[in-house]
Amino acid sequence: MSTVISPQVERQILPIIKERGQREVFCGLTGIIWLHRKIQDAFFLVVGSRTCAHLIQSAAGVMIFAEPRFATAIIDDRDLAGLADANEELDRVVAQLLERRPDIKLLFLVGSCPSEVIKLDLATAAQRLSRNFMPQVRVLNYSGSGIETTFTQGEDACLAALAKDIPLPSASQVSAPAELLVVGCLADVVEDQFIRIFNELGIRQVRFFPPRNSSNVPVVGPHTRFLLAQPFLADTARVLEEKGAQRLEAPFPLGVEGTEKWFAAAALAWQVPADLFEQVIAPKRQRATAALARFKTQLAGQSIFFFPDSQLEIPLARFLNRELDMVLTEVGVPYLHRQHMASELALLPEGVQLSEGQDVERQLDRCRAIKPDLVVCGLGLANPLEAEGITSKWSIELVFTPIQGFDQAADLAELFARPLLRHLKLAA
Ligand code: SF4
Repeated sequence: MSTVISPQVERQILPIIKERGQREVFCGLTGIIWLHRKIQDAFFLVVGSRTCAHLIQSAAGVMIFAEPRFATAIIDDRDLAGLADANEELDRVVAQLLERRPDIKLLFLVGSCPSEVIKLDLATAAQRLSRNFMPQVRVLNYSGSGIETTFTQGEDACLAALAKDIPLPSASQVSAPAELLVVGCLADVVEDQFIRIFNELGIRQVRFFPPRNSSNVPVVGPHTRFLLAQPFLADTARVLEEKGAQRLEAPFPLGVEGTEKWFAAAALAWQVPADLFEQVIAPKRQRATAALARFKTQLAGQSIFFFPDSQLEIPLARFLNRELDMVLTEVGVPYLHRQHMASELALLPEGVQLSEGQDVERQLDRCRAIKPDLVVCGLGLANPLEAEGITSKWSIELVFTPIQGFDQAADLAELFARPLLRHLKLAA
């Protein structure tokens, strides 16, 4: 099914292609791979099948260098046939796990397609287990099921569950000075850079969500202003807003321009004087722009096509077009969040073709007709496209790599330059 609708707000963008059909995406379990490294005392117990276990193991296997902080409680045939009490089994597995791993302070029960098929109520299970194991361990749940999700929605579901669990602020906390919350998993190195810049700007009340330690969850209320660091956190943002927090409108901190505008949104809310802002940002802007120059020579004029996968597509397209002069063909997104994307959409070039959702065969046909120099897509499409001579970039790599901020702008550009260079070498 494919329909074309007229955009309401994006004045300069072509009608958006809206599609529903076969999709080529990973499920939300994938998020565990970076979430377990970020929240260092959390454990992710997938309640799923052997397929779920294989997905997590093969995706994360290369990164395990200590005892992992994720596992799968396998739902077997007896559970599926209703012969075993899945709740009793789950309680037994959790008790065993927590006895063996006293370092776990926060346990996520992660739902999957099989747990949803047998209608295992993980929310009730998490409440029951929390009662049993508090105060040593908090137990939360979210779904990583792949039926209707994209792989980055796993992070959104996880952070929304964590945000819902934040207690209401006390009266004194509500009247506390405004606090800035940066929302979305970032590499520690990026967080540290951001903290330094906020401090240079005189913004000292800054917290990150998720925190590195689960006991360090911030108080959220009307005193909270938050900046999204990732573009796929619709549910998390909604929960924070329900608690009274206010989102600061900004593009995402990708590339020099996006990062500057992202900091500018905080500077505006904290009334940082314009000359101080310029004094802090100018050297960083200058250094990052200089580092981008050599990739601009390589990427300028090259055309790029985005298949919908990570939800990072629009900010990446904006960066590649405005800072590296790449030509945007189709920019596909799994879901277009018009509010969170407002600043990004305003920066896209005239006439860009956006698409939302996916009917993979139709989209492949459009891609083949366009013959772009580079395609950004999931792993499932990359190999067939490469076999057809179309150069590809795996979108999942963009989620694993530190790409946000001034100092990472050139690294981000290099991620796109590398496959083109490889293609040139192979062709030579
Ligand atoms: Fe498990 Fe469903 Fe993901 Fe497959 S799509 S790995 S069954 S949660």
